[in-house]
Amino acid sequence: MQHYRVDPTLGNEIAAFGGQTLGRCFSCGNCTAVCGLSKGDTVFPRKIIRYLQVGLSDRLLESPEPWLCYYCGTCSSTCPRNAEPGELMMATRRWLVSRYDWTGLSRRLYLSEAWELGLLAMMALVVLALFVVPGWLGLPFGFKAIDASAAAHVRLDLFAPTRIVHSGDWTLAGLLVLLLGINAVRMVAFVRKGMGQLKVPLSVWAGKAYEIAVHGATQKRWLQCDNDTLVRWLLHFLLVTGYVTMLLLVVVFLPWFQREHADFHFTAIFGYYGTVTILGITLLAMRGRLRKREQYYRFSHVSDWMFLVLLFLTALSGILLHIFRLLDMPWPTYVLYVAHLMIAVPMLIVEVPFGKWNHLVFRPVAQYLVAVREAAQARQPVPVPATRRAHAVAR
Ligand code: SF4
Ligand code: SF4
Repeated sequence: MQHYRVDPTLGNEIAAFGGQTLGRCFSCGNCTAVCGLSKGDTVFPRKIIRYLQVGLSDRLLESPEPWLCYYCGTCSSTCPRNAEPGELMMATRRWLVSRYDWTGLSRRLYLSEAWELGLLAMMALVVLALFVVPGWLGLPFGFKAIDASAAAHVRLDLFAPTRIVHSGDWTLAGLLVLLLGINAVRMVAFVRKGMGQLKVPLSVWAGKAYEIAVHGATQKRWLQCDNDTLVRWLLHFLLVTGYVTMLLLVVVFLPWFQREHADFHFTAIFGYYGTVTILGITLLAMRGRLRKREQYYRFSHVSDWMFLVLLFLTALSGILLHIFRLLDMPWPTYVLYVAHLMIAVPMLIVEVPFGKWNHLVFRPVAQYLVAVREAAQARQPVPVPATRRAHAVAR
């Protein structure tokens, strides 16, 4: 039997991560009863709230359940104590992210707006320096590379050569995969520890790997929630397709997508799709968070706003840059190119591995871990309790 230490600071910790209503819960279980996703061995949110109240931080770390919640709000709107169980699950996810993250940055970013804004600003200045410093060093790109021809017509081949930007994209993508991958492996290790003596053959680990792709691409379990599920799922799905499209255009198809001059290429059509979905859906989400009418939008952590505002500004600066390039306006194009990267790169480096974006990885991984656990339990013979064995012998 595993023993767990009680962590008396856990309640205050969760309050700092946004879960300030923990003390109101009197453990009636209504939230678990109404949650459309709470089934079988993966019951929540009451169990998770109980761990929080008792201070079982290690049990929390071993639980994939917080990631199975899609924050539909059904439990919060029916809680007799207004304990906001949906928000407590959200705060628990932030806390979990801070514990999966080995660098400690997530924790600082979630708990300090100064850290979040400071790091974003610092990254933005680094990006700006990439377009200023090469000129001082005599390298052939950046502001110093703008000669008479590049001042008369758009010449991105001089200002930001595709091969250099493309190498930067791949470096950035590799860094993000590495940071997210390490945290995902740590999450798997924590949850595996919670499976205790359960034997999980390699074939089960490998055989269920497809769950990550299925849930990552579709988030299909969300459709089992009760509150306006289809609309919200569809908007989220469109948003994800929008930024995946942009990511593919920039990381994989940049040689076609980034045009050197003021010409049009058909890859821009995919860019329009990404821009329209991102601008439209982030605007709707910001309006929802300002109006606070729906349960889903009643509480907003600074990380929620950062996610929306940076995404919106990235898409806006991207489409303005595109328009100025098509109009063959060199200086506005160059300035917006740098501004676009000063928003997009810090957003990717700070928010993807350390902020709200990482739910895109942790949620499907949690579904995978639950599937693995269930498959392993189904294989393992259920031990006959000692009392029943004794009766059998007596008979
Ligand atoms: S959060 Fe609300 S509904 Fe859930 S157990 Fe506590 S009091 Fe009951
Ligand atoms: S917010 Fe929705 S999915 Fe999350 S625990 Fe509550 S009822 Fe379940």
